[in-house]
Amino acid sequence: MLKVGMPRALFFYEYYPFWKTFFEELGAKVIISERTTKTIVDEGVRVCIDEACLPVKVFHGHVIDLKTKVDYIFIPRLTSIAEGEYICPKFGGLPDMIKSSIEGLPHIISTEINVRDSFSRIFNSIRDIGKYFCPHTGKIIKAYKKATQAYLNNKQQFRGGIPGWIIDKNSKGQTIQNFNYLNVGLLGHPYNIYDSYVNMNIIKKLEKSMVNSITPEMLDEEVLNKKALTLRKKMFWTFGRRILGAAMYFIERKDIHGIIYIMSFGCGLDSFICDMVERRAREAGIPFTVFVLDEHTGEAGVDTRVEAFIDMIRWRSRNENYVSTYG
Ligand code: SF4
Repeated sequence: MLKVGMPRALFFYEYYPFWKTFFEELGAKVIISERTTKTIVDEGVRVCIDEACLPVKVFHGHVIDLKTKVDYIFIPRLTSIAEGEYICPKFGGLPDMIKSSIEGLPHIISTEINVRDSFSRIFNSIRDIGKYFCPHTGKIIKAYKKATQAYLNNKQQFRGGIPGWIIDKNSKGQTIQNFNYLNVGLLGHPYNIYDSYVNMNIIKKLEKSMVNSITPEMLDEEVLNKKALTLRKKMFWTFGRRILGAAMYFIERKDIHGIIYIMSFGCGLDSFICDMVERRAREAGIPFTVFVLDEHTGEAGVDTRVEAFIDMIRWRSRNENYVSTYG
């Protein structure tokens, strides 16, 4: 049985259920890299160019973790994953970066996925990827349909909390229904929010402080789109649209008590989306803070800032009834 490796980084957090089902339906075995560790980060930092953002460096580390375990590594060249939109160009350059930085790799499946003009273009990419494992187009289409269903099921699962395949086993994956908890909107790219090593376990830290983390993936796609449409200009980055849509939704909800934005150092997209969110949060008087992650971020600093932020929210809700004394 052919083994196909998926690095547990970047697009993994959005598309793992889809590709796992797709490859398995075509008779392949899917191997994912280990959860992120210090070794994985150090290895990624060692081989990757200095200028890359932390998630790209971490991706390199995950590829190294997989390279001797599989026949293929799946690194599609993602250009656009939604009609009329793009994703970060680093996703498009990923296969080339990996090939030039890491030696001794198995074959990389680097088919381009670009649905910017029409979503129907996905079929060509799916067929080309499927052909690595099965020559029959009919079977590939069947696998695609099953994979789409798995993807939608996973989206649905998010409504009840973070699915088990993402979080550590001992984390509960809080939901907004825990009434004694504070609710905080956790914004950022999925690979920053759900990689607990990279973000210093922020979801668990919040749980310990009796705070629910509500993430963009827990919200209905329709809600995200509707809220993002209220922006004066269309946001053409797919993840940016989702983050901004979620931010607008959080700001309107009376039961979201604060917003934390997790961003990567060196990410152009995060730098201006975070700024837009911050301006709107401040206008609405909702507590907001940002955590910037890079390979040097220290856990003690994150602990202190999480505690200070949550203390400030509790203090305000007790003493100021959400009316600021400073303007
Ligand atoms: S969107 Fe930002 S964090 Fe993500 S890959 Fe691009 S530069 Fe890196």
